Amino acid sequence: MEDIALLIDLHRDAKRQGPGGDDETRLSISLSGLRDAKGLKIADIGCGTGASTLVLARELDAAVTAVDFLPDFLHQLEIAATREHLDQRIETRVASMDALPFEYESLDAIWSEGAIYNMGFAEGIKAWRRFLKPGGILAVSELTWLTRDRPEELDRYWMQEYPEVDTASAKIAILEQNGFSPVGYFPLARHCWLDNYYRPMQARFAAFLSRHDNSDSATAIVAAEQEEIALYERNAAYVSYGYYIARRVSE
Ligand code: SAH
Repeated sequence: MEDIALLIDLHRDAKRQGPGGDDETRLSISLSGLRDAKGLKIADIGCGTGASTLVLARELDAAVTAVDFLPDFLHQLEIAATREHLDQRIETRVASMDALPFEYESLDAIWSEGAIYNMGFAEGIKAWRRFLKPGGILAVSELTWLTRDRPEELDRYWMQEYPEVDTASAKIAILEQNGFSPVGYFPLARHCWLDNYYRPMQARFAAFLSRHDNSDSATAIVAAEQEEIALYERNAAYVSYGYYIARRVSE
């Protein structure tokens, strides 16, 4: 089985496919200043099975378009949306984040948790900006150094996996250089990684390995995840996802 099919199989039944939390999505909503707005049009890019999409649809008077390039994940979101009677507010779209199916200046807000790294932070915000109305909100979470200096093993790992990892001040500068005005930042706390993402994933490993007869590829995926988890546990003081909320400067 291809690695992508294995990754889908490992992550499809999860609530989240990356670190995050419902409270943290709600905090980003509060910081966005959109709570009292009516008739919003919002996109949630790289939504996975839609943990943040469901919060947005619950909390805001909004039509939310949930975009991911994996139909299997969107299918899980559709089931959850129907169960919660949110299906009138949530539309799913299979699309790539570098070719979004929106009209220019049509969206009040773009949310994206733990996904913009697939394009790269700078490329992503440059590409997505045109879909926001002037004054529209961008809310993204992105791998972020919490300190200026870090242990070498952590630096080496993430510089190889994602060379764009940087401090919040550097990420905010990129937003400012690309026509955004920062309105809020907070780092995700450890429970967003451990309780909400890594522990539930670890609980799925045994069944995952047995579904795939301990194949070399499945075993390698589990080993790589365990390595990343152990590295995080040793270094949680130095790295997290930062949540960045910014407004498109109106020209
Ligand atoms: N936002 C979700 C999922 C984060 S994982 C959560 O926080 O739980 C990253 C997601 O981005 C995955 O669902 C993956 O399928 C999606 N993705 C990766 N590359 C993509 C691309 N080029 N276009 C659209 N979605 C992509």
